[in-house]
Amino acid sequence: MLDREVIDAVPHALRCRFAQCQTPKCREVYALLRHGTQCQVGVPGGCLLCKKMWLLLFYHALPCQEDDCSVPRCSYFSEIREETKRRVQAEKDGEIHKKAALRAAPGA
Ligand SMILES: [Zn+2]
Ligand SMILES: [Zn+2]
Ligand SMILES: [Zn+2]
Repeated sequence: MLDREVIDAVPHALRCRFAQCQTPKCREVYALLRHGTQCQVGVPGGCLLCKKMWLLLFYHALPCQEDDCSVPRCSYFSEIREETKRRVQAEKDGEIHKKAALRAAPGA
């Protein structure tokens, strides 16, 4: 499980150019993000650091409301989130219609 502190450090670490930064987790997140851009193994190859980075980006993107977010993959993840929301909503709508149809059915 990831720390809130680590997740919050993502947008900061992306902008931060200060090698001696004292912001908690800044350097840790920075190193992780940089690893992700350079790693030759990647998640399919079983790299745990990459996995952690993806998880981090995912957790950042979940509550993120910024349309123009600078975090990599943020919009990609929010598309998935919107898609999931739409599907859940569509399923709910479907349920309502089903119930309505049942009620309308003769003899029900
Ligand atoms: Zn920093
Ligand atoms: Zn890696
Ligand atoms: Zn974001």
